[in-house]
Amino acid sequence: MLDIKNLQKVFSTEEVETTALNGIDLEIKDGEFVAIMGPSGCGKSTLLNILGLLDNPSEGSYQFYETEVADMSERQRAQIRKGNIGFVFQSFNLIDELTVYENVELPLLYLNTPADERKQRVEAALERMSMMHRRNHFPQQLSGGQQQRTAIARAVVATPKIILADEPTGNLDSKNGEEVMNLLKQLNEAGTTIIMVTHSPYDAGFAHRTVNLFDGKVVTEKVHI
Ligand code: ADP
Ligand code: MG
Repeated sequence: MLDIKNLQKVFSTEEVETTALNGIDLEIKDGEFVAIMGPSGCGKSTLLNILGLLDNPSEGSYQFYETEVADMSERQRAQIRKGNIGFVFQSFNLIDELTVYENVELPLLYLNTPADERKQRVEAALERMSMMHRRNHFPQQLSGGQQQRTAIARAVVATPKIILADEPTGNLDSKNGEEVMNLLKQLNEAGTTIIMVTHSPYDAGFAHRTVNLFDGKVVTEKVHI
């Protein structure tokens, strides 16, 4: 379970200070599917990066399964990221020089997973995302939908507890977007917690709950029935 209390994030440069998050309270339970919405610049990506231990809060508390994230070493945070969290981005973030198979294999190489288990897991993830037939293609040879399915296969290959998705359908047409949303929904139904930033009310409808941000604060929360 993820528990955030009075979280603040300030970005400082020599010229300006930007308060990206300004007192966020948010609790996310195991198995939830949460959508985060709000206008551009309101702090959605900053919140997602902090939830995913890619960035640290300036103030406030973030408990990751009852451990305060600020008290963890960078090494511990990296270990948790590798083993427990999968990321999906709007721009897919695949490595162009690697094949579909190699992109999906990467998290397991970082985890030192043995070769035979790696093969089995990569193939299972590709199978699940209907990407086996493109395993030897490079990202530039794929449609946007196929690239995002590859990115989701990479995000799930180490069977993370949590998937963080930052506008996962932002670069997709509605047909491919719907396919990606259905895949995320299936993963959630199989037990994965999903936290997704989106601009699309339709995509948010796949979630159990929508959290609306404005100017670095939670302004409304809506539970979907
Ligand atoms: P959103 O994802 O909702 O569009 P962001 O979380 O990306 O918003 O950004 C929130 C605010 O923080 C914006 O004003 C943005 O310019 C600022 N910001 C985000 N990341 C950085 C950074 N690394 N350095 C400085 N300012 C940042
Ligand atoms: Mg953003």
